[in-house]
Amino acid sequence: MTEQVEEIVSRLQQAYPDAECELEYQTPLQLLVATVLSAQTTDKQVNKVTVRLFEEHPDLESLLQLTKDEIKEYIHTLGFYNAKADHLYLLFRQLADEFGGEVPQTMEELTKLSGVGRKTANVVMSNAFGIPAIAVDTHVFRVSNRIGLAHAETVEKTEAQLQEAIDREIWSLCHHLLIFHGRRCCSARRPQCESCVIQAYCESYQKGMGTTLSAKEKRA
Ligand code: SF4
Repeated sequence: MTEQVEEIVSRLQQAYPDAECELEYQTPLQLLVATVLSAQTTDKQVNKVTVRLFEEHPDLESLLQLTKDEIKEYIHTLGFYNAKADHLYLLFRQLADEFGGEVPQTMEELTKLSGVGRKTANVVMSNAFGIPAIAVDTHVFRVSNRIGLAHAETVEKTEAQLQEAIDREIWSLCHHLLIFHGRRCCSARRPQCESCVIQAYCESYQKGMGTTLSAKEKRA
């Protein structure tokens, strides 16, 4: 890891000492469900629906009792709730039939589950099982490419470049730091560059592009 990257991480840690997963869960299964639900919506909205869902159906056995329509009733305030209910209905059955009722811990197995892509798998591996991983969501993609930690057109390439630039033992920490920075300072449309703690290390800002959306961001 270069001195510059160390300095960026250190400054972000000072700015966001409480950076952690903002989804609320008690078990790996609940985190998996919450992360599937979090696509195209905010963690706060997900927490609002999972508080009731997890209270009334805390484990797989109980979740398997739900019909698709019942799942929809719990999550209908979220975007894409029809597709998400379809995914969860199938995912619960895959866990029971193919994984002995347990949430698997590898990328290969997790991404076989309905509605689970690399981002969700990385979030679960990292937060539920403590396996170093960098999940690239919209914030991580935008912020890391603006700073210059990555120079990539896709989330897959961004993930690979971040893994290269950052020491493995702090991948998960950096994932949270980049999300917090994206939510609280480096927003998509109006980044607060003048008060940004890593302004001096930000490639976009140094090039005078801190407040200009790049073409790839518009596509993301
Ligand atoms: S200087 Fe601006 S563009 Fe760069 S990380 Fe900070 S807020 Fe984002």
